[in-house]
Amino acid sequence: MASDIQTHQNYINGAFVPAREHLEVRNPANGQLLSRAPESSADDVERALDAARAAQKPWSRLPAVERAAYLQRLADEIRREAKSLARIITEEQGKVSGLAEVEVNFTADYLDYMAGWARRIEGEIIESDRPGENIFLFRKPLGVVAGILPWNFPFFLIARKMAPALVTGNTVVIKPSEETPNNCFAFTRLLDRIGLPEGVFNVVSGSGASTGNALTASSRVDMISFTGSVETGSRIMRGAADNITKLNLELGGKAPAIVLDDADIDLAVQSIRASRIINTGQVCNCAERIYVQRGVADEFTDKLARAMAETTYGDPLAQPDIEMGPLINQQGLDKVAAMVERASRDGAETITGGRVADLGQGFHYQPTVLAGCHGDMEIMRREIFGPVLPIQIVDDLDEAIQLANDSDYGLTSSVYTRSLARAMHACREIDYGETYINRENFEAMQGFHAGTRKSGIGGADGKHGLYEYTHSHVVYLET
Ligand code: NAD
Repeated sequence: MASDIQTHQNYINGAFVPAREHLEVRNPANGQLLSRAPESSADDVERALDAARAAQKPWSRLPAVERAAYLQRLADEIRREAKSLARIITEEQGKVSGLAEVEVNFTADYLDYMAGWARRIEGEIIESDRPGENIFLFRKPLGVVAGILPWNFPFFLIARKMAPALVTGNTVVIKPSEETPNNCFAFTRLLDRIGLPEGVFNVVSGSGASTGNALTASSRVDMISFTGSVETGSRIMRGAADNITKLNLELGGKAPAIVLDDADIDLAVQSIRASRIINTGQVCNCAERIYVQRGVADEFTDKLARAMAETTYGDPLAQPDIEMGPLINQQGLDKVAAMVERASRDGAETITGGRVADLGQGFHYQPTVLAGCHGDMEIMRREIFGPVLPIQIVDDLDEAIQLANDSDYGLTSSVYTRSLARAMHACREIDYGETYINRENFEAMQGFHAGTRKSGIGGADGKHGLYEYTHSHVVYLET
């Protein structure tokens, strides 16, 4: 019923503020209208930036432990409401409930983890060449951070940006993806409830072309922390060039999984399958292309195809036990279908799947394995973002590494082998931000999630991720 449909309001200076224009938000599993969210204007963006600017100095003057205490209170609220928050994620983004709950709980743990850095933000005292001089290096907040989010982990990624920004004394303006604003407003309501000071956290929702562009092109933003596609990252970089705005870009991936002839094949099959069906293949760091050594190629391909074919999928709210939900939208489904079609035309053999799954509604694609792929094919070079695993046979580890490195992307990679020497050789030679040995691709909050080449600039998580939100200030003092 139309009256049940919520119309969200932006969150500016500690208050929910109505907007003039709105975008519809729908459930990707069944097309149901879920809410309307602001399509924010450039004026809305400016108001949010005014609030964030005014709040920043007072916020930065609080002791870091006091700033961190807000994050800890937010984590408690999130844990209390975990079930209902997970449902919002599933409804709006299509992730299965188990994974949505993992996302919510991981978000709470992440807030606690970043809060724990409050007592560990450290500068340096540097030896001087001059007698009586002291050189101090302070770490200071950048100012106002614009956080631009994708839709694939819509709840967690808010925390990944705001937690390190806030604990180091910045204020933020967040723009959620137009596909998943409900998550962001649920997160915001909890922040509002714990009484975060006005202006420290602001939300303007809207499309990338208008709201996103107004935010990232503004000269009043000190850092753009963006997660999304390479194409958008590149556009944002061009916009930021005029203002020389600091950028942190977490972009796409085309993760190679290398399976060697001494690998535990069952482990490799189980891990690679898990990493590709999770979130319906819509994860930046999960296996996107496989290089398998010739001697084990038939066994591996056969087992992987059987495992993929057994994957259950559908509407995660109607069938809570399924393993895979829908793709995010029609555009995502069309992209996957077109890439698989072109791969077949280029000579790939479909071992299982290979078609749009007609479930009557929603954007579903069959779990798919393609064999006979080679390095020139689009399917081995461009991010698919769907439940499709293309396989190429290689003669040895060095050929696999050479193919893995010959890519626009450099986010994550994995290697399956029982040999420590081969694993270490791969780690030395592979040019990626992360490599997983004998396990599926998922990063830890204390690591550093960053990519080489077009996968991004800078990174997130851990100490290095925290310091991305600071600048150094060196003071020379003669006494
Ligand atoms: P996207 O690039 O289409 O959109 C991301 C965000 O950018 C959205 O909020 C969008 O509205 C906004 N945007 C679009 N145009 C803009 C513009 N001109 N100016 C400012 N903002 C603009 O990406 P998506 O489809 O939402 O997400 C999927 C992509 O995200 C994939 O490529 C995936 O690999 C990547 N991703 C990367 C990581 C990582 O950590 N490296 C994590 C998750 C997702």
